[in-house]
Amino acid sequence: MVRLHPCVVIGAGVLGAAVAAGLAGAGMRVTLLDADQPGRGTSRWSFAWVNSNDKGPRPYHDLNRAGLRAWAELAPGLDGAAWYRPVGNVELATDGAELSARVHRLTEWGYAARVIEADEAAVLEPALFYPGRGAAAAWFPAEAYLLTEPLIERLVTSATDHGATVMTGDRGRVTSLAPGRVRTAAGEVLAADEIVCCAGRWTPQLTALASPACPVPLVSWDTPGATAPGLVVRVGPVRAEGPARLIHTPRIALRPHPGGLLHLEAPDAAVDLHTPQTELRHWAGELLQRARRTVRGLDDAAVAGHQVCVRPMPADGQSVVGRLPGAEWLYVAVTHSGVTLAAHLSRLIAAELVTGAPAAELAPYRPDRFAGTAAVSISGHATGR
Ligand SMILES: Cc1cc2nc3c(=O)[nH]c(=O)nc-3n(C[C@H](O)[C@H](O)[C@H](O)COP(=O)(O)OP(=O)(O)OC[C@H]3O[C@@H](n4cnc5c(N)ncnc54)[C@H](O)[C@@H]3O)c2cc1C
Repeated sequence: MVRLHPCVVIGAGVLGAAVAAGLAGAGMRVTLLDADQPGRGTSRWSFAWVNSNDKGPRPYHDLNRAGLRAWAELAPGLDGAAWYRPVGNVELATDGAELSARVHRLTEWGYAARVIEADEAAVLEPALFYPGRGAAAAWFPAEAYLLTEPLIERLVTSATDHGATVMTGDRGRVTSLAPGRVRTAAGEVLAADEIVCCAGRWTPQLTALASPACPVPLVSWDTPGATAPGLVVRVGPVRAEGPARLIHTPRIALRPHPGGLLHLEAPDAAVDLHTPQTELRHWAGELLQRARRTVRGLDDAAVAGHQVCVRPMPADGQSVVGRLPGAEWLYVAVTHSGVTLAAHLSRLIAAELVTGAPAAELAPYRPDRFAGTAAVSISGHATGR
């Protein structure tokens, strides 16, 4: 195979691993760096719901929708049985008008969505406690969830099978950046024609090394009260009659998780990286109770673990993908909904870097829209998936 030129990818979460696999598969000589082991950042704890359910404006909806297709296409050739779960999503709502309006908009846009009766919800997901005649419900058959740990493992293996090198720990921790040069905490300097930063929530720290004047502002995550962190709770064991699909209600979101567990999140669990453990444990117990009231199979379940994890949320909620203004030698990719988007974005990124031709689909997401923004990390609301 023809080797094009050396490329360093910083960050081996779902996005960086997919980008590394895409670039290596396209013939680039890739070095993938991570300060930790691959997949130990946000991706590890993500709800990992692949969807474009409530995402706008239309181009961003379409970008996410392309994400659904990209995973479906990738799965057969990447041992999808280990990580791809196209099980569909049942949503119960208190605001039937909002749900109907959303389903209407989504179907107009060609997205698979249908308002359903409570009876059908109970048939689609027998583990659901009957929500009551007249309850507002909808069915989103094309949505899926991914198991990010086995997925990232396979993406990294795909990259190494195509000749990529993976460096982790101090050998993978990037401490300084310059045009064509990446220095790691182990003191090594790597020469690279292309440097791609996929460092998730740590992206502003990396871009500041390259160009302090051109920040990539993320919703703040490290201060008390920050909205980017979210609580994830895993409970089990789940009996055989437990749920098989994604389920969303106004009080709880849940899906199966390996090891006989359920993965739970709640929209109102307002926690941050400073929330005391006692409060986190309280929330974990509360989410278990909510899940017990929602689905069957949790009679023997206890909290198996909880974790506060951080959404890498660009300040305007939209993906940031492209060359950093003032430091064009650094290509940046950071996004919320990164699990939904990684397969599709990685294809677009690999095509741009290999051919040099900009992808029209990425035009709304270029980092130069933040040029002149003073803060590196700003306040804002981090919602949605
Ligand atoms: C609670 C929660 C629920 C979510 N639910 C969904 C969902 O349902 N659907 C969805 O699509 N998205 C969801 N997301 C968002 C999604 O999980 C993220 O967008 C995605 O995981 C980001 O992946 P990433 O690869 O960009 O970042 P990460 O997975 O965080 O990877 C970044 C990597 O960069 C490495 N790194 C950092 N600094 C350095 C350095 N200096 N040198 C070398 N390596 C470095 C880190 O070690 C890490 O491995 C959710 C997020 C949260 C927090």
